[in-house]
Order: sequence, then C-alpha cells, then structure tokens
Amino acid sequence: MENSKVKIGMDSKCVHAGIGEYEFGPVVPPIYQTSTFKFESTEHGGALFKGEKDGYIYTRMRNPTIEAMENAVASLEGGYKALGCASGMAAISTVFLSLLKNGEHIVCSKSVYGPTATLIATVLSNYDIKSTFVNSSDLDQLKNAVTDKTKVIYIETPGNPTLETTDLAEAAKIAKAANAKLVVDNTFMSPVLQRPLELGADIVLHSMTKFLNGHADVVAGIIVTKDKETYTHFRKVLNQLGGVIDPFNAFLVHRGIKTLGLRMKRHSESAMKLAEYLESHNKVKWVRYPGLTSFPQYEVAQKQHAAPGGMISFELKGGFKSGEAVMNSVKFCQLAVSLGGVETLIQHPASMTHLSMGKEARESAGITDGLVRLSVGIENVEDIIADLEQALEKA
Ligand SMILES: *Cc1c(COP(=O)(O)O)cnc(C)c1O
Repeated sequence: MENSKVKIGMDSKCVHAGIGEYEFGPVVPPIYQTSTFKFESTEHGGALFKGEKDGYIYTRMRNPTIEAMENAVASLEGGYKALGCASGMAAISTVFLSLLKNGEHIVCSKSVYGPTATLIATVLSNYDIKSTFVNSSDLDQLKNAVTDKTKVIYIETPGNPTLETTDLAEAAKIAKAANAKLVVDNTFMSPVLQRPLELGADIVLHSMTKFLNGHADVVAGIIVTKDKETYTHFRKVLNQLGGVIDPFNAFLVHRGIKTLGLRMKRHSESAMKLAEYLESHNKVKWVRYPGLTSFPQYEVAQKQHAAPGGMISFELKGGFKSGEAVMNSVKFCQLAVSLGGVETLIQHPASMTHLSMGKEARESAGITDGLVRLSVGIENVEDIIADLEQALEKA
C-alpha cells in the first residue's frame, strides 16, 4: 500500500501504511516474536551477513513485524526509512551518539522533555559534547547560539510543558546555513498534525509511548530518516547500542496507528473546547494552547499544524497550593505523567516532575508554580469539563 503511486488521504494512510503481503493473507502483519532466524546453510548465512542476500538474521538487526511498523511511520512522516527503538529516550540517545563527536556542539530548545535536557547536560557533557539551550521560538536566539562546532540543532515543538512553538521552516534554514542537522522531536503533534521533514528538518523522532501508540500500554520510540546514507549509519549505531523495539510492542504501536487520524481529530476538537472553557475560568490566570488566538506563536502554529493537538498548559492564579489542590481533587481526569493516550491525564510539574529542579531553575524554563499540563483524551468532553469544574472549585 505504501508503495502505491495513488495519493491517499492521511486517515487512509494511518489505516494502510506499512501493511504488506504475508503468508495465508492476513490483513494485519503477523507477530514474528522470535529472537533469531534459521539459515538454510552456511552459504546462505554467509550471504546474509555479507548483504548479498536479503533476509533476516537476528531481531536486534531486523525483524519483519518491526519493519512493518517502521515503514508505516516513515510513510506518515514522508521519510525514507525509520528505526524502531525501545523508548523515546533510546531514539534520542541513538540520534545524539550517531551524529555527535567530542568537541562538537548542540543547540537545543529550552522547553524540552526533562530527560532530554539531562542527557545533554550530564551524559553528553562527559564526552566533551557542548550545548547551548535557547528559547527556540526566538529565531535570533537560535541563530546566535550556533557556533562553527554546531552539528545538531535539536527542536521540540510544541515544547514540553510550555508548548512553546518553533517555526520549523525557519529553523531549517538556520541549520542548513550552519551545516548542522535539524532534529525534531514531533511527539506532541504526531505526523497527522505536523510533518517536520516536509518543512526542511533532517531527522524526526518520537516517543511512540504517546500519541502514535495512543493507548498508554507501550513504551517505545522511533527515528525517521530522510536518506539512505543517514539511515544506514543510524542502523549500524542502533545495532551496537542495542536499544531496539520488541516485535510485540511494534505490533501494538502499528495497531494504534490505524486510529491516529481519528484520535488526533478528537483530541484537537476536545482540547479546543477545554482551552476556551479554561480561558474564561476565574481561577485560571492564562491558558497556552496553539488553537487560541492568545497563544504567543499563534501564527506559526496556524501555518505549521493541521490542527492544534491534544496538549494544554494553564496557569492557576493560586500558584503552587492551588496546583496541589486541583491535582488531589480530580476524579475523572487521572493524575499521572505521560500523555497522548485515549484517557485524559493531568499533572502539575512544580509539585511532581520538576520538584527536584528547584524554583529558580523551573521559572527560567517557564515552569511556573501554578502550571498545570493536561493531555486531553477522547472521552466525552463534557465529562472532562465537569471534573475540572469541581476540582477548580478547590483551587
Ligand atoms: C515522553 C517523551 C519523551 C521520552 O519518551 P519515552 O518513550 O518515555 O522514553 C521524549 N520526548 C517527549 C516530547 C516526550 O513527551
């Protein structure tokens, strides 16, 4: 299907991408839950290892169930090929270790998933890889951070948890001029709502734990490449590092992707209603949602996103204490980290995920005391609003 010359819609692609032809004619790819594959003879094994024959050797290297899912995501992102990883962080670390050498430099969005920032600041720094963190929505800041040693510009957009949004087409120009690779974490939008490769990015990655799988039952990641050379290099490094996805998880993610188009539409519609509700609430100081005209990068969001997505951040007037009170009062929304599933999740970074960071470091990353992050699920939006209504009374 993905080889078809006929152009099909994004929802159709979600249903059909990556599905091939298999023995007995199943409509979904079989689960090849096997670590290894038999050779017909020593000659056959030798030819496979030399790359003279096409086939499977060992699941860390290649597996048909994993490949089917990888082809689906590569097709949705408009990339060449993809690499399924054990987690979003496995995808991110594989990209960094494939692209960076000691003495080189990375420019990264300030508003970025916490462990990504920690990986750069505390692990890559051990290998003398230097970094600069910037508000990447400010293109001058981004441009000025680039040095002659910069090899990677790493952008998460919308960024976690502030939803700060970066103009990817402009960031791609900056990367190109600097001869650096533009790597984009597209987890918050999914390829249904934003396709960075089409805007000039070199590499896209995801935590598939979130929207791509969508059902809060898998931890997985993926890297999408644009060309054969990059793919081949990344595949070698991933094979050495070993952070590959398991066939069963690949099957589950591929199954989740079938409804990605429908889910992103529903997430976006409900989140828009919730954002408007929250913006008019007297306990709420401000709301950040790419679909609101009050959103600081509204124009960029309109240009770059097919719909505004399922993530909302808002600030409670009552600060830290109000944040705690709302968290401890929700009944329908679930108090948990992670995002992008069918169920609505709520979390208060200052009292939980970013507590150990300290107030000063938090504020400089835009994580204020009353900031609440909401991952809007696909339930009836009235039920989510009713729950927030009663919880906000306690704020
Ligand atoms: C969750 C997340 C990650 C890390 O993914 P894991 O699957 O948890 O390793 C990276 N980036 C973003 C934006 C995330 O939300």
